[in-house]
Amino acid sequence: MKDAKACGHGDGTGDEVSCGRCDAICCRLTVVLDPDDRVPGHLTARTERGLPVMARDEEGWCVAVDPLRMCCTIYDQRPAVCRKFAMGGPYCREIRTTHHAQLRRGIPLTMY
Ligand code: SF4
Ligand code: SF4
Repeated sequence: MKDAKACGHGDGTGDEVSCGRCDAICCRLTVVLDPDDRVPGHLTARTERGLPVMARDEEGWCVAVDPLRMCCTIYDQRPAVCRKFAMGGPYCREIRTTHHAQLRRGIPLTMY
């Protein structure tokens, strides 16, 4: 991604970690919606337990990801949980480490 801000993530500083050099890995996590979120309805879904979430495509990507730029297409309306997700924070680093280890071992993308 070329611009962390346009990609919808938090403001944390990330040393060597940058959304601009990441394949939007956090956009493959389950994104549970808050009642105050104003995400277009056609981009949402419900879990088996009825929780409102961002819908995902067959490979697990949030349907709001622009697949060419790997950026968030609903930046101004992105869910609260996405706004809070800090680039370079502990969770960001953890999922990047897991993802890259799986890629090195030839493990296909898995749903988180
Ligand atoms: S996983 Fe971290 S570095 Fe990658 S896009 Fe998300 S916030 Fe940015
Ligand atoms: S709403 Fe935007 S920032 Fe949040 S997971 Fe989807 S593409 Fe990523």
